[in-house]
Amino acid sequence: MTDPDEQDIDADIAQRLAEAKAMFAPKCEECLTLATQVATLAARHGNVRAEAEARLWWGRSLLVMMGAAPALPVLRRALRLALELDDKRLLADVHLSLAQCHVGSNTPAALQNWLKSLELALQIDAVDLYAEVYLGIGNLYLLHDDLNSALHYHAIATEFASAQRDRDLRAKSNIHLASILVKLERHALAEHVLHTAEAELILPLRRDWQAEIYNYLGAIHMRQRHVEQARDFLERAYAINLDAGFLWGQTVNLLGLGQLARAQGDDVQAEQYLLRATEVVAKFESPNLVQQIHLELSQLYEARGDFVRALMHHVGYHDHYMLIMKNDLSARLNSLASRRLAAAEIRLKLLSSEIELSQLRQQTSERASRMKQLEAAAYRDALTGVLNRRALDERLPLEIQEAHEQGYPLSVAVLDFDHFKHVNDRFSHLIGDKVLQAGVARAQETLRDGDLLYRYGGEEFVLVLPHTNAIGALHVAERVRSRVAEHDWDSIVAGLSVTISVGVAMLSDDDQVEDIVGRADAALYQAKQGGRNRVFMQSEEA
Ligand code: GH3
Ligand code: MG
Ligand code: MG
Repeated sequence: MTDPDEQDIDADIAQRLAEAKAMFAPKCEECLTLATQVATLAARHGNVRAEAEARLWWGRSLLVMMGAAPALPVLRRALRLALELDDKRLLADVHLSLAQCHVGSNTPAALQNWLKSLELALQIDAVDLYAEVYLGIGNLYLLHDDLNSALHYHAIATEFASAQRDRDLRAKSNIHLASILVKLERHALAEHVLHTAEAELILPLRRDWQAEIYNYLGAIHMRQRHVEQARDFLERAYAINLDAGFLWGQTVNLLGLGQLARAQGDDVQAEQYLLRATEVVAKFESPNLVQQIHLELSQLYEARGDFVRALMHHVGYHDHYMLIMKNDLSARLNSLASRRLAAAEIRLKLLSSEIELSQLRQQTSERASRMKQLEAAAYRDALTGVLNRRALDERLPLEIQEAHEQGYPLSVAVLDFDHFKHVNDRFSHLIGDKVLQAGVARAQETLRDGDLLYRYGGEEFVLVLPHTNAIGALHVAERVRSRVAEHDWDSIVAGLSVTISVGVAMLSDDDQVEDIVGRADAALYQAKQGGRNRVFMQSEEA
């Protein structure tokens, strides 16, 4: 560090990092480029703090531009570095961003990260972070259709924010609060809050928020049948979104303008707006908006007597409805699959006496019992009683994510019965079925709580072993293999003998489902090649 060259480099890194941060809001793609460069440079020069911070902004801009999937590994690395540095502010910021990545797809993970952020914020008295976390938790309730709790948290966030110097945060929290008030149809209050938000806007930086405010004001006036004002606000919002290229905003505004025109009986105008909305929405992904547009168009054509078009849009509406319901259901099931929610709730309660989770807890227990019913029917394999492929597809990604985030080892084993075709051919399919049942029962006897066996398909099974490293997994696999081989198969039918082969793989950094299962599969292939009735694991680099 005393080397003058090194000092120059660190100063350069600091300078570029500041530029990256400053670019985040006005030009996210610039922030992305700069932050990526800084992270690489800082890593090369062993500047851990700068690398961690650069990764935070790199992850944040990835999240805005490309969504959670690419952002998560970058943020996880930032988390590890921040832990290494033991920098509470940085850690709290990273947890906040991780939570934002998980909103809508993994409720427990989002909640857990917000809690960590809040816990750290309390230690360093970072009121701006309280506000961010409460906004996040409010949004979570919104996703669970609990408007009153969402209102509660957003109101607290707004209060925290109002005591801060950060205008942007004040604008943001007021907009969030207003969005709930609009949904609750508290129009006068919503309007007041929106005007407060507008006064706090930093322009032209926050033109997207300005458009959002106008859109809400338009919606409020539409519901109150103030047609002229409604159109005026919606058109202003649309002009901003068009100018700035915000596609989502444009679609929402066009939909609103279409609804407004229809309410006034101006069919032709309504059709034009809605068809334009169809064009814009095709440029990005939003089943929700597509569904709403189809609904409007279907009703419009039906009223006009054009039943062919009406039907076509009704089908489109229905398809998207099904799609949304399916996503919604699996998001809820995923969120319940985790035991961590309960732990998170307890900590949240301890952290703040203001937070009342009774409603969430009640909903959670309702959904948990529904989950159990579903699991019994839809997630079990009828023949062997173990979890099925569908359960594996839903759970393994979560198990892997949890292992990554909490930094514990996880291993996967793929089990396959040897020469099973031969068993069926020589004895019968019925005997084959009995072999599968008995083999699975033997395997289950050797497993601990938390180790889960799934039927992958046919005579192949997957064993997921959380908190188990490679050596541990090899032991478990070997125990299962020998237990099956040593079973008294003659008791089913004379002359029967059964063995299995097992391929094992351990989770490595940034592994996804396909990676680890692929390696276990490749190892299984090797075990078969090696003569069957054996356990195999590839070495690290193979
Ligand atoms: P290998 O040792 O290479 O794994 O040989 P194999 O014969 O076990 O492998 P292959 O994949 O060729 O055959 C698997 C057989 O398992 C074929 C299929 O009919 C049988 N099978 C799959 N599911 C069931 C089932 O539920 N019951 C019965 N009885 N047989 C099944
Ligand atoms: Mg087989
Ligand atoms: Mg097979």
